[in-house]
Amino acid sequence: MSEYKFIESALIHGGIYGDKTTGAVNVPIYQTSTYEQKALGENTGWEYSRTGNPTRAALEALIAELEKGSAGFAFASGMAAITAVLSLFKSGDKVLISSNVYGGTFRVLDKVFNNFNIGYSIEDTTNLKALEEKITPDVKAILVESPANPLLTVTDLGAVAALAKKHGILSIVDNTFMTPYLQRPIELGVDIVIHSATKYLGGHSDVVAGLVVVNDDTLAERLAFIQNSTGGVLGPFDSFLLIRGIKTLGVRLDRHVENAEKAAAFLKAHKGVRNVYYPGLPEAQGYEINKKQAKNGGVMISFELDEKYDIKKFFSSLKLIALAESLGGVESLVCHPASMTHASIPYEIRQKVGITDGLIRLSIGIENIEDILADLENAIAESER
Ligand SMILES: *Cc1c(COP(=O)(O)O)cnc(C)c1O
Repeated sequence: MSEYKFIESALIHGGIYGDKTTGAVNVPIYQTSTYEQKALGENTGWEYSRTGNPTRAALEALIAELEKGSAGFAFASGMAAITAVLSLFKSGDKVLISSNVYGGTFRVLDKVFNNFNIGYSIEDTTNLKALEEKITPDVKAILVESPANPLLTVTDLGAVAALAKKHGILSIVDNTFMTPYLQRPIELGVDIVIHSATKYLGGHSDVVAGLVVVNDDTLAERLAFIQNSTGGVLGPFDSFLLIRGIKTLGVRLDRHVENAEKAAAFLKAHKGVRNVYYPGLPEAQGYEINKKQAKNGGVMISFELDEKYDIKKFFSSLKLIALAESLGGVESLVCHPASMTHASIPYEIRQKVGITDGLIRLSIGIENIEDILADLENAIAESER
């Protein structure tokens, strides 16, 4: 049994550490679909790997411990995790979502859950007074991201949790961008935390996975039932990869954030850059709230180039930073939200929420920052019309 106080240690020793049978310091990959039963009605506690698998269980215990919840659930992707959470609702229910939620979250609500008469509406969750007015009797949950993708909009998570509690509805936070190392929504009173573990938790752009954490026994029971019934579970090998990735989350994020702070300052000072969105900049929207609820501004930065720069040329001039969807890996990535991550959101809605065609989103990696800045500097210079 490990003894520790700090999250840096919990990342390595948390959940179910090692293997009691052999003393292996790593949880083995239990690559099995089923388990032999000694006699009728007599099993080892493991029956079938959709219902439970020891490698997945170790990961689930780990994320629950890190997020300070009572139960964790691992899914085959972030979207499978979100789908499982939305399956808590029934026909006639409605979910309020923050503007700027992940494009896939919008899409599954708009194109899948809508067919089952589970509604949604997009709200400015930074304006709590206006948000409260939208809580009609059919509203059963508020789902937010903070900072939200891609404008890094900050929402007061404690205030949203309190508002939800007051009205007897659920507060749900997609904590993908911050991870429990930087922000723990359950400690702020939030009911359900979701992760696309594909991003920082995995950290190496080599696994697609999703996680859910709750801090209530009834909710845990309902989610376990949904997970087992709908079956979008994470396999043993991918569970192992995530446990391995999480061990280095602290050191990776320390470097990620150090680099991101330097990149944000560089972009801010650049004459070719118009707007820089980064919650770690004192002039950023929600800077004070973010400072209160998170360890720092995180890693994601969005910015707009001045009109005299050709954005297509900018993307093609980058030599180190790769143009790709996703984020959170050790390598720096860049994307164009309007045509990539947020393309499933109709043009009019994109304009309304500020996802302009000139917006560029950066996921700063852990390379040497001088190489990252040189690549940005060069690509901006090359793209001048
Ligand atoms: C990527 C992402 C998702 C979806 O996760 P997948 O693992 O790609 O299914 C959900 N929310 C946020 C904030 C994301 O960045």
